[in-house]
This record gives sequence, C-alpha cells and structure tokens, in this order.
Amino acid sequence: MNDALLALSEDLEQVPLVHGCQQEHPLGALSTYKVGGSAALFVQVESLEELQKVAGVTSRHDVSFLVIGRGSNLLVADQGFAGLVVQLGAAFETVSIEGPTVTAGGAALLPVVARQSVQAGLKGFVWAVGVPGSLGGAVRMNAGGHGAEMKEVLQSVVVVDLSTGKTSQWSESDLALGYRQSALKPCHVVVEASMLLSMDDTAGGPQELTQIVQWRRNNQPGGQNAGSVFTNPAHDSAGRLIESVGLKGHRLGTAEVSTKHANFIQADPQGRADDVYALMQLVQKKVQEETGVILQAETVMVGFVGEHGG
Ligand SMILES: Cc1cc2nc3c(=O)[nH]c(=O)nc-3n(C[C@H](O)[C@H](O)[C@H](O)COP(=O)(O)OP(=O)(O)OC[C@H]3O[C@@H](n4cnc5c(N)ncnc54)[C@H](O)[C@@H]3O)c2cc1C
Repeated sequence: MNDALLALSEDLEQVPLVHGCQQEHPLGALSTYKVGGSAALFVQVESLEELQKVAGVTSRHDVSFLVIGRGSNLLVADQGFAGLVVQLGAAFETVSIEGPTVTAGGAALLPVVARQSVQAGLKGFVWAVGVPGSLGGAVRMNAGGHGAEMKEVLQSVVVVDLSTGKTSQWSESDLALGYRQSALKPCHVVVEASMLLSMDDTAGGPQELTQIVQWRRNNQPGGQNAGSVFTNPAHDSAGRLIESVGLKGHRLGTAEVSTKHANFIQADPQGRADDVYALMQLVQKKVQEETGVILQAETVMVGFVGEHGG
C-alpha cells in the first residue's frame, strides 16, 4: 500500500464504523464476473452519518475512489484496486412510494424497486426488473433497457462527495445523463434517488414484468458476466457486429464470448480478469479491422492501467 493510502487508513481507523476499514478486501467476489483482486482499502457504511464521517476524512486525502454497488457492470483487474472502495450497506436499500413518486436508497436493487412500483400500480420502471444492479449504479450508468432509461424517470439524487465531504442534491439535468453515462465521478456516492413514474390504468404491469423476465431468460446468459460488454454503436448493435466477425463462442483462456449473446463475455469459475480484458481487446481489434467500427466498453474497468477507473 502506498503512503497516501496508509495515511488514509490510519485516519479512517479513528472513525467509529460498524464494520471498520478493511485492508486488502476481496473485490472481484463482489462483482458479477466474480474475478479480479482486492481493494487496498474497503469500507461498508451502514448509515448516512457513517458515510458523511468517512467523507469528512477522505476529503483530506488524495487517493483513488470507487463506489461499488452490485458489481454488475464492472471488471476488477487481477492486481486489484489501489484505492478506497466504498459500499453502501443495507440501510440504503429502503424504498418508499408516495403517489407516483418513488424514492429509494442508492443500494436498493433495481428488480425490487421495479416490482414494488408495479405493485403500487405505477408504470415507467418495469424495464428495470431485468437489470441486476443497484439504483446508485443505475444512476451513474444511466441504465436502461426495453426502450427506456433512467433519464426518463429520474427527478433528483442525493450525493455525498468523497473529495469534498459535502452532501448535496443534484437534479436530473445536473447529472447530464447520456447513453450509459453521467456527470458522476468516482468520488460521488449516490445515496438516494427520486423518480417520477405515472399511474398505470391498464393493470398490465404484472404481465409486462413476467414478459421481461422471460425475455431475459431466453435471450441473455446467466452466470459470471457483467451484461453488455460494449455500448451499441449508432444504428447498430455490438452483439450483431461481434457475431458477424465470427467471434460468438470464441474462447481465450478462462473467458468466452457468450454463445447465447455475443455482447456478453462469460468468465469461468476461478477465472482471470486478464483473460476477460484480453478477450475484450481481441473483440475490439477484430471488429475494427473487419467492419471499421470502434467498439467502446460499457463495462467499467477497475484497476487496469490506462483505463478509466470506477
Ligand atoms: C445479466 C446482466 C444484465 C444487464 N442488463 C442491463 C441492461 O439491460 N441495461 C443496463 O443499462 N445495464 C445492464 N446491466 C449492467 C448493470 O446491471 C447496470 O449498469 C447497473 O445499473 C449497474 O449497477 P451496479 O450497482 O451493479 O453498479 P456497479 O457495477 O457496482 O458499478 C457500476 C458503476 O456505477 C458506480 N456506482 C455504483 N453504485 C454507485 C453509487 N451508489 N453511487 C455512485 N456511483 C455508483 C460504480 O462506481 C461504477 O462506476 C446488466 C448486467 C448483467 C450482469
């Protein structure tokens, strides 16, 4: 661990945290790829007050940050992450619904929020039942599917900034949401989000939920992956391009382009992040050589030299 992280670790030890600050905490295991190394420092916070105390300390240190949600859109390098990882605990999983407004914690699971919104007779969030991430991660990524995205329903979020120690409310426009991107930086922790849905007078919500879950089962693989690896280029699909260059099912070491959906990469049990990364690069190279299209990673690369971090 470098000097900056050691100094932060010592300062965090002075903060009364339910779980304390851990060193070399396994991180790959917290991701859906289930590969990759450890976080140099890791804290799981169990209340907003805990997080604010942590942010008060981190604001005095110059280290790299990563907020991890359900780890369903990231790949952790085998050498791990040389920074502080923050994870929101169960206290951030609350969901409350008043009229058409759904307010939930940053750690709330998207399928849970989607189901509760349908039970409350609302429409506009049913698509999220098939996305295995947290609400905070969905805000950061402007997650979407089935022709919808977070941007359409998001009203505002509460953010704790690990680099300044401040807590503030951001409106939907402050977030500058675009295709699988936002203005949120690795130092920003989304602790709560409010969404404005609409009343569903067709009573078709439960059936739509079932159809979406079924569609996912039929069209996407389960197991160790992080969903779509690359964003879709304008007017095309990354999966179609990868299939067109003959890479569906292609294996490299412990990683394989899914035989069910070519824009998914499956990692083997006890697989290596380096293999997933090398396969991503191979796919990018071949697709560019044969089609001219440069595929961009949707997956957030954590701890890889030269890649944008969390
Ligand atoms: C089988 C499968 C299907 C998927 N289908 C879809 C889909 O249809 N559409 C889609 O958009 N995505 C899809 N995904 C990707 C993923 O589920 C979404 O991007 C999800 O929103 C990520 O949430 P997460 O909590 O897992 O985030 P993580 O993977 O933990 O993190 C992703 C990014 O969000 C940041 N982040 C996480 N939590 C917070 C927080 N509280 N505050 C600030 N930043 C945070 C992280 O730092 C990182 O930059 C799929 C993934 C899988 C495995």
